[in-house]
Order: sequence, then C-alpha cells, then structure tokens
Amino acid sequence: MESSGRRTKILATVGPASDSDATLRGMIAAGMDAVRLNLSHGTVEEALVVHRRVRTLAREAGRDVGTLVDLPGPKIRAASFGRDGVDLPDGKRIRLVPGNSRSTADVIEVGYAALLDGIEVGDRISFGDGAIDIEVVDTASDHLEAIVSHGGRLTGRPGVHIPSERLRVSTPTDDDLRILDAFVEEGVDMVALSFVRSAHDIRRLGTEPHPRGPLVVAKIETRSAIDNLAGILEAAGAIMIARGDLGIECSIEDLPHLQKHIIRECIAHGRPAITATQMLESMSHAPTPTRAEASDVANAVFDGSSAVMLSGETATGTDPVNVVATMARLCARADANFDVEGWTRLVTRLRVNDPQNSDGRYRRITDTMTDAAWRVAQELGANAILCLTRSGFTVRAIARYRPQVPILGFTPDERVLRQLAISWGATALPLSGFADNEEMVREAVTTARDRGLVRTGDIVVVLAGIDGHSRTTDVLRVLQVT
Ligand code: PEP
Repeated sequence: MESSGRRTKILATVGPASDSDATLRGMIAAGMDAVRLNLSHGTVEEALVVHRRVRTLAREAGRDVGTLVDLPGPKIRAASFGRDGVDLPDGKRIRLVPGNSRSTADVIEVGYAALLDGIEVGDRISFGDGAIDIEVVDTASDHLEAIVSHGGRLTGRPGVHIPSERLRVSTPTDDDLRILDAFVEEGVDMVALSFVRSAHDIRRLGTEPHPRGPLVVAKIETRSAIDNLAGILEAAGAIMIARGDLGIECSIEDLPHLQKHIIRECIAHGRPAITATQMLESMSHAPTPTRAEASDVANAVFDGSSAVMLSGETATGTDPVNVVATMARLCARADANFDVEGWTRLVTRLRVNDPQNSDGRYRRITDTMTDAAWRVAQELGANAILCLTRSGFTVRAIARYRPQVPILGFTPDERVLRQLAISWGATALPLSGFADNEEMVREAVTTARDRGLVRTGDIVVVLAGIDGHSRTTDVLRVLQVT
C-alpha cells in the first residue's frame, strides 16, 4: 500500500507485464499517479484499450490517475540480426548501408533512407539503447565504414541512434500525428514528444493549449534541445529528462549535470520536470533495487524532480506492483528529508528574465503572487495552500517553492485534475465552477474540511486566478477555517 506523506509523483509505463486489471489496480493502490503508454511498442488500438481500462480502474479506485501517450518520433531500426543474433566484438570493421532486409556481422542495414547524407567521419552511432557503439571511419557514396568501439551481441531489430544534428527527419512524424489524433479523440491528458529539437517541433503538434488539449511534455534527449531549452520550456507544458537517449547523445559524465541544469530551468519556468529511465532498472528482475538506484531516486527528488518515471521496470518487469511500491517508499523518504533551507536559497534566485511580451508580464504577476503566498504561509504557519485554478498554472507556480504544507489544487476541469498528477506535492480536488470569488473560496474550504485535509481553526492561504482573460494568479487571501 501507498506510503504516506509522499510529494514527488510517480509516472509508470504500462506494458505487457502490467496491463491486466489486477496489476493495474495494484499499481494504483501502490501509488502510481499517472500511466505512460509507450507507442514505440504495440499498436494504437491496443494502447487505446489500455487507456480506457486505466480510466475505468482509476474511477473505481476514486483516483485521478493521469494518462500520457508517448509518441515515438523518428525511431530508426536496423534490419533483423535474427533471433539468435550476431556478435560484434570491439575493433571489428563493419559496413552500414540503408535497407531493411537483413543485417549480418559484416554489413548492417539501417532503415533510414538518408543514412549516407550528412554523416561524418568521427560520428558515433549506437545500437540497442547504447548497448553497442560504433565510430564512422570512412564514408563512400553507397556505404559507411565503421569500427566497433564498444562491442556486444545484437539480436532482432535493435534501435539505431544517429546523432540528432545529422538526422534529416523531424519530429513529430506523420505517424506521431496519427497516433496523437486517435488519443486526442480519446481525451488523453498528456502527450510526450520524442527527439524534440526546438519549440517549433512542439508547435507542429498543433494541439489546443492545455487544458482544452493535452499537456505537452517535451522529451529532452538531443543536444539541440539542451541548446534551445528556454524556447522549449515556453512552448511545452512539462519536460521529461529522457536519460536513455540523452545519455547516448551526450557524454555519460555530463548526464547528472544536465539533469540538474534542466530541472533548474523547469523550476524557473514553473514547469514540472519528470526524471526518467533506468531509475529502478534492476527491479525488472530483482525484488529490491541496487544501492545506486536507491540513491539515484533520492537524488532526483533532491534535484527538484516533480515526478519520477518507471519504464521497462513496470512495462516488462517481473513485479510491477512491487516496483511502484518501492519507488513510492524511496520518494516519500527523500521528500521527508528534503533540504528546505537550501532549496529556499536556490529557488529565490531562479527567475526567468521578463521577456517584453504580455505572457512575460503575466508570469511576473504570478511569480510575485506565488512568492508572496509562500512567504505568508511560512510566516503565519499556515496549514495548507489552496489554489483555485482553471489550467493548473497557479498550482505549478507555487509547487516550485516546495512548501511543506499541502498544496490543494481546486479546479472545475476534470482534465486539469488529472494533469496535476505529475505536479509536485499537489492534491487535486474538484470545484463546481468558477463563480463569485466568495462562493468559490467557501466551497474550496468546505471541501478541504470535509475531506479532512484542513480542520476548524486552521489558517489557510488561498491563491486564485480570478481574471479569466489572462493566465495570472491575481488573488491572495488568508483565512481561518470555521
Ligand atoms: C529515454 O530515452 O530515456 C526515454 C524516456 O525515451 P524512450 O523510452 O522513448 O526511448
């Protein structure tokens, strides 16, 4: 069962090991806040069926479990090495050609028509999520020559990672847009876009701004995305630090520092940051994590992750429920030991330079109001911060201060309730509608009291975005619960 007091959210990938009703129920009870459907595997129809089942099971459990569809982007694969596979030892010289029929130990066919355009001597190409690396040593008109720099065995049709700056295909692909259409129709809460390089890629999704459309999660896994991070943060609703591909695209020793850098930028922009990949990898087969994994989860919390993600551990692992329960315990323990003072010093320095546009001005108002709310809550020893929000914006803005008191996010929008599933520390609660200020505040306080989240005599801070025309937080009140 779920450990109490956890503030960091858990996003878990559902796959063949976890798509039964019993396992999904177990994962929800163990603390899964949102599910990820990874469309790199399986069909759209299968994923839609799982999406509907998650919705039903969450409703039965009385939980607002968010749903996220992860679009694969330009995923390139090698032609099959066969079931038994092929050994590629260190130092072996091989050829790469475009094609899809068969790969051997000497010639690898890559399903990418533009393979021979733009690849340069010295480029590193990886297979099977970085399991095998090769370095290009010569280019010819009909093939590339390469040497295996990190050898191993390849089976089936492994994924091929070509440096993103060399790729001639952009994201989202036509397939991505088809998948997205089907899931928007279904009412999915969030969509993750792979191999984002700039804000332009996000705009090409063409979805309506959230909450009318899904919250767009930009996966940061290319060098260009790191270079264009500020623009991506403006255009996206949240960020995923996709450490699998990012760890191939960048030097592995840079990865922990990039994780911190990306999370800090997310904090400055008030965007949730999801730290992803290999967090509890060994639990795909083992009942407990390695010591390094336990530390990785705690450090991701200390870095300021809003949510942590499980991939193969829950999609294909032996005990997905145990993995979620372990993740919940690790996060709750790290949340309890969070360095609030250190964070306070950091967060007050993190501000986005006010761009000279109206969005920038609105953000400045929200920044100032949430900063004030957080200080008031601390000064008065308030028992909760209540946010009345149309889009979830105010909740995400106050969450970055990591207040120790509960953040209660009230919204009339069902989809916002579920989009808050990846927001740090937020408990999402329904509001009947955006009405008269007094009436709304009364309803929120009554709901919080009826659910035992505040008690008579408690001091609560209320933040609201009353002006429906701008995305600002324009009301701050303090009141005592009667
Ligand atoms: C990653 O690369 O870390 C990631 C989350 O993306 P995917 O699982 O699609 O490779």
